[in-house]
Amino acid sequence: MQFPLRNVFQTWSLTELLRGLVLTGGYFFRRKFTIQYPEEKTPKSPRFRGLHALRRYSNGEERCIACKLCEAVCPALAITIESEERRDGTRRTIRYDIDLFKCIYCGFCEEACPVDSIVLTGIDEYHFETGESGVVSKLDLLSLGDRYESDIAEARTQDAPYR
Ligand code: SF4
Ligand code: SF4
Repeated sequence: MQFPLRNVFQTWSLTELLRGLVLTGGYFFRRKFTIQYPEEKTPKSPRFRGLHALRRYSNGEERCIACKLCEAVCPALAITIESEERRDGTRRTIRYDIDLFKCIYCGFCEEACPVDSIVLTGIDEYHFETGESGVVSKLDLLSLGDRYESDIAEARTQDAPYR
């Protein structure tokens, strides 16, 4: 408990104000933590869970084998897959949609995939203008995978020792 006389002294001498100014002045000359987004960006973890992508092997073949594990594990029921058998006996998807309005970016689909096909990339700047455009199709996902394969591979290499 403080004495009333001390309170009166502190109020009239403005010591608290001066202490505040000294503290603020000290931070003024220190290294800044704020950044000028979007020109400057903070570093991102290789485990960052952004926009999805479907990957291919280096020979251009789709990695996805239509096992539907990602669809089964998705807690938001955001993935819809339809598949059929090809002439060579392998199974491939003919439809692979992800509803990004339902998706909670948990990364379970990525963890469940046995062939490293569906991944969550580091892309975090995107938008949709209509409800329907929030559903990304297989072609969109493959095209994202093609465009960002080097970034995806690099992130997985960095994270490999911890998996
Ligand atoms: S990140 Fe999670 S919620 Fe989104 S599609 Fe994958 S499993 Fe479903
Ligand atoms: S993306 Fe992976 S888990 Fe999903 S159906 Fe294809 S192979 Fe299976």
